[in-house]
Amino acid sequence: MTEPFTYQGVPVRVVFGLGARRCLADELDRLRLGQVLLIATGSTRRAADAMAALLDDRLTWRVDGVRRHVPAELVERVTADAQRVGADGVVTLGGGSATGLGKALARSGLPLVAVPTTYAGSEMTPIWGMTSAGHKETGRDARVLPRTVVYDPELTYGLPPLVTAASGMNALAHCLEALWSAGANPFASPLALEAARALVEAIPVCVAEPENPRPRSRALVAAGQAGMALATAGTGLHHRLCHVLGGRYDLPHAETHAALLPHVVGFNEPALGPLAARMAVAVGSGRASTGVHDLAVRLGLEPSLGALGMPDDGIVEVAAEVAANPPPNPRPFDEAALRSLLRAAWEGEGP
Ligand code: NAD
Repeated sequence: MTEPFTYQGVPVRVVFGLGARRCLADELDRLRLGQVLLIATGSTRRAADAMAALLDDRLTWRVDGVRRHVPAELVERVTADAQRVGADGVVTLGGGSATGLGKALARSGLPLVAVPTTYAGSEMTPIWGMTSAGHKETGRDARVLPRTVVYDPELTYGLPPLVTAASGMNALAHCLEALWSAGANPFASPLALEAARALVEAIPVCVAEPENPRPRSRALVAAGQAGMALATAGTGLHHRLCHVLGGRYDLPHAETHAALLPHVVGFNEPALGPLAARMAVAVGSGRASTGVHDLAVRLGLEPSLGALGMPDDGIVEVAAEVAANPPPNPRPFDEAALRSLLRAAWEGEGP
């Protein structure tokens, strides 16, 4: 028997292919954008130079100083730049940090075209985030969805192995949370399960063979599917914990997901019924939490939130903040349960 549900689709145009970045000027023409701002992650500088050449006289201003967690003062500065040069659109090249800055500008009405180079999947969600004074605020706004997303797997060949690994785990977290979140629905769940399977198979090959187009293509599509599934199902405990940790302690986003995910999966597993078994199959293990943990270890990721920079007293602080305003979660929790979950993740134990 299918439970009642509500589904709101994600109306994004997707252009995918090896070399798809070369369609960017045509895509801008299609949107009638003639004066765009290019926001590029610093480590994609060569690709950004090539993209600037492709954009030619459509490029009006370039921003290379992307920082993680979208600091409010950076948003203010780049918004002022966009107004000063009369930009009519924004193009982002890079991971979730570049996309996030582009989304912050799109909130004021500038159309966004995203060219993602990690597996963050932000380009497929109407969720924006911004950090000020150690607090990361997030919200939903349809205006921040890119008009067009250009996925070119060749742009991911230069992603370092540990970034590939952590970002892939971030995408896997999107899949798993989409399966158990309050808005989980029968349109998003099959996508999330398929994307989880693809990520678990493709990411280790991407790490071993960074310039192999097959796993790079599969992982990039799966990351988009993961973002789309999460966008329609909504976030829950896992994402709340990650955002509080990221905002308070400036922890690296994807690595934080990777360290925390096995513990949130392990906490929720007893409350998931038959879904726990379907998740385990998707991640190729007898238990999903063990499979996720083993994958992270195999990829060489840091399992300890403490080693990633979370202070010991953060366990109490974060548990209190999240318990004071609890997100929906399949297994009820209180502050003490969060403290023990965070303690295990802080120490980097298995789930
Ligand atoms: P990121 O954008 O900071 O990129 C991670 C690292 O990869 C950086 O050092 C970057 O310079 C490097 N990099 C990116 N592309 C590269 C390339 N092609 N070659 C070499 N290096 C490259 O991090 P991320 O994990 O992609 O995104 C994290 C951010 O995205 C966080 O702020 C998070 O909150 C946000 N996010 C938002 C959503 C959403 O729906 N709103 C979803 C996921 C993530």
